[in-house]
Amino acid sequence: MHEEIPLSRPDITVHEEEYVLRALRSGRLSQGPMVAEFERLVAERAGCSQGVAVNSGTDGLHLVLRALGVGPGDEVVTTPFSFVASSNAILMVGATPKFVDICPTSLNMDPAKVEQAIGPRTKAILAVEAFGNPTHMDTYASIAARHEIPLIEDCCEALGTRHKGRPCGHFGRAGVFGFYPNKQITTGEGGMIVTDDPRLADTCRSLRNQGRPIPKSGAGALGVWLQHERLGYNARLDELSAALGVAQMQRLDELVAARQRVARTYLTHLLHRQELVLPTVDSQSEVSWFVFVVRLTTGWGRDERDRIIASLRRHDVGAADYFPCIHLQPFYREMFGYRDGAFPIAESVSQRTIALPFFTRMSDREISFVVQTLELMLEREKLSR
Ligand SMILES: *Cc1c(COP(=O)(O)O)cnc(C)c1O
Repeated sequence: MHEEIPLSRPDITVHEEEYVLRALRSGRLSQGPMVAEFERLVAERAGCSQGVAVNSGTDGLHLVLRALGVGPGDEVVTTPFSFVASSNAILMVGATPKFVDICPTSLNMDPAKVEQAIGPRTKAILAVEAFGNPTHMDTYASIAARHEIPLIEDCCEALGTRHKGRPCGHFGRAGVFGFYPNKQITTGEGGMIVTDDPRLADTCRSLRNQGRPIPKSGAGALGVWLQHERLGYNARLDELSAALGVAQMQRLDELVAARQRVARTYLTHLLHRQELVLPTVDSQSEVSWFVFVVRLTTGWGRDERDRIIASLRRHDVGAADYFPCIHLQPFYREMFGYRDGAFPIAESVSQRTIALPFFTRMSDREISFVVQTLELMLEREKLSR
C-alpha cells in the first residue's frame, strides 16, 4: 500500500518552528515585532511601500473595498472564474459583482470585456491571477487608469510571481495576498494588503483594528486604544502566525524554485497527452505556481471529468475541480438569477479542469505515479465511450 498523495501540503521546517517558538516565548502575542517584520517582507517582495497584515485574504479584500469607499449601488468588475472569496468581498460591502467572461488561455478576464463592462456605476476593477497566472494585469491597470477607477489585485494565488518584470501585488491601487496552507507560503490563516498609498494603508490599519485611530509616532498608545473613529473589524493577524510568515518569507525563493521544479516535471510528463490542455505561462511572466491544473479538451464533458477526479481519489491521488464558476454557486444563482450559459467560456473551462497534487516536496516518483494514474483513467474513460 502506498501513501496517499495529497492535493497540497505546506512546507514547514525547523526554521519555522524556531520562529514560532520565539514569538510564543516573547510574551507578546498580537500586533508586535513579528507582524511588523512580516509586513515589511511581503510589501518589499511586492514592490510596495506599505504592508498591512490581516487574518485572511478574504478580510484583506473586504477592508480594501471598504477603505476605497465601495458600497451599496456600486458595481465592481470581476471574474466568475475564481475562488468564491474574490467576489464575496464585493458582496460584503453591499456592492454588486459585474462578472465578465474569461480568456480561454490565461483564464483571466478578457480585457476587451472588462472595458465593455465598465459603466457609470463601476467603482473598481477586482482582478484575480487565476491559478497564479498574471497575464493581462498590466492591461487591466491601464484600463482602470483610463477610467479613473482603482484596480484591486486579488493576488492571493500569485505571491512571488512577476509579469513584464513587475511583481504581483504591484499592479493595482492595492493588492491582497492570502496565506491559507495551500498557498505559496502559509501562516495557517492570514493575509496581507500591499499598496504604495500610505493613506489607504492607514485606513486599512484602522479598519482591521476596530476602527482605532492609527497612532502617530509618540502618541500614548493608551490614549487611543479605546477610541473608535469608524466602524472597524477585528482582522488582526497574531504574532505566532506572523512568525510563521516571516520564516516562510525568508525561504520564499527556495519554495518557489521547488514549485517550479514540480511544475516542469509535470509538464514534461504530460506534454504528449492529446486529451489535455496544459497550463500555459506567457513568455513575459515568471510564475511561482499556486496549483497545477490541467483540463480535458473540449470533446470531454463534466461527467467524465468528475468520474476521473473520483477515480483519482480512489487511487489515493488528491484531485479537485478548481474552480466551479462563482455565478453558478447556489446563493449567487438565487441572489442574481444567473443561469447556465451566462459566461460560456468560464463555464466550459470550469467543467473540464482537474487540479492535480502539487507541493514543494513532491518526489519524481510521486509525480510519475500521479501521471500514470491519470493516464490510466483517461484510457478507461475513452474505452467506455
Ligand atoms: C485563497 C484565496 C483568497 C483568500 O483566501 P483566505 O482563505 O481568505 O485567505 C482570495 N481569493 C483567491 C482567488 C484565493 O485563491
